[in-house]
Amino acid sequence: MTDQVLRLEVKDGALRGVGSPMPPDTHLEGEALELARFRLRNQLTSSVAKLLGMSFPCREPVCVLRAPVRIQHIDLKSTHFCEKHQAEFSRIAQERKLKR
Ligand SMILES: [Zn+2]
Repeated sequence: MTDQVLRLEVKDGALRGVGSPMPPDTHLEGEALELARFRLRNQLTSSVAKLLGMSFPCREPVCVLRAPVRIQHIDLKSTHFCEKHQAEFSRIAQERKLKR
């Protein structure tokens, strides 16, 4: 992950910690940085999947396409698809000749 991506992440209030917004020049380290990276990966994967036309939302608790109600719900998901969505992604990737 590049510094540029991380700066975008910090500016996006949705990926910061719970509570009041942090100043724009906030520097994340340690567990807070890892949590922000996880949330960014999760949201990017989910967004790309939706752009590809994958079905949404998912009911599987850990699927990346489960709709979070609160920021903490993102932390309970994974950055991966459930079995059903993995099969759906494989079909779409094959149809569109996407490289993995
Ligand atoms: Zn799923």
